[in-house]
Amino acid sequence: MPQPRLNAIRFPVELSRGRRYEEAPHPYRNEFQRDRDRIIHARAFRRLEDKTQVFTSGLSDHFRNRLTHTIEVAQIARTVSAVLGLNEDLTEALALAHDIGHPPFGHSGEEALNLSMSRFGDRFDHNLHALRIVESFEHRYAAFPGLNLTFEVREGIVKHSREIQPGETPELDEYLPGLRPPLEAQLIDLADEAAYNTADLDDAYSAGLFTADELSASVRQYAEIRHWVAAEFPAAQSRTQFLESLRRLIDYLVSGLIDGVHTAVCRAGVGTVDEVRCYPTRLGMFSDAARETNAALKRFLRERVYFSEALVAERARSSSAVQELFEYFVNRPDQLPELYADEARREPVHRVVCDYIAGMTDSFFWRVYESFCM
Ligand code: MG
Repeated sequence: MPQPRLNAIRFPVELSRGRRYEEAPHPYRNEFQRDRDRIIHARAFRRLEDKTQVFTSGLSDHFRNRLTHTIEVAQIARTVSAVLGLNEDLTEALALAHDIGHPPFGHSGEEALNLSMSRFGDRFDHNLHALRIVESFEHRYAAFPGLNLTFEVREGIVKHSREIQPGETPELDEYLPGLRPPLEAQLIDLADEAAYNTADLDDAYSAGLFTADELSASVRQYAEIRHWVAAEFPAAQSRTQFLESLRRLIDYLVSGLIDGVHTAVCRAGVGTVDEVRCYPTRLGMFSDAARETNAALKRFLRERVYFSEALVAERARSSSAVQELFEYFVNRPDQLPELYADEARREPVHRVVCDYIAGMTDSFFWRVYESFCM
């Protein structure tokens, strides 16, 4: 595969709009490397270790959690960024931060919080929550609140998965609404999809939720890869053949992402970061073939994994518990830890309760739930 370099649209760290609170430069780390390190040292980052990705840890010791998932996304995103000649440091910082605002229990936790918030005409969005974490909830530095990240990392946190329109959310107006984020941020969700679509297959296969034959019948590209693996390693155990096929499938999606971005950029004829920002659509995309495979994987996972009996039951249990604990604290804010109880005297109670629950790990949530709601 040729090395398609897109150096002209790499976001140069020298062009960063900088930090909210000015700081002296570091002698040997650039600003995006410092941001990456600050994210890794944040409490919210460490808590990802005990937050569900898809499967809860009670079922097996081998499943991904949100931290190991984040590491897989960072590794894929960095590879893509390096091959394309983009800014690896900015890409890595964004990949490491991409799930930092996730509440306990994966998407069901997010939906449950959103539902509870909607009663107050408000909502929960994990990207906005991530911004609040890095702007104010982390207290590690004497000179400023939060992590004091560069503009581009904060912008990427807000915009990696969707555009914001002018006037849509007043507190986000500083993040260039109406403009696309740099390509480094546009890659993140696609690297995320390549990572979780294959990782979820791996975890679900070990949980016995489907067979390789069933996956072959639904995803043409997988069937093709599996055919070649079986021809090359006919004596290998079926589990080994599955894993060998899966690693080639990751490679196929990642190569398709590199190819898709390169083709889109060349076709659009953009040659500067500003042109990427002003281009009417995102240029971060899979090639047509990889997009089709990615969509087939998603369909298969929805049909066979995400709505499987075991996962649906688990989600229903955590979702109703989240809503129950939310109600409890909204009615009894005096029962919140002192810091939050204090906050609840100045801020809307539902927002403070939401922040408190969103920050919890899965196991801390159950401990609090058991002491107040059981
Ligand atoms: Mg993710």
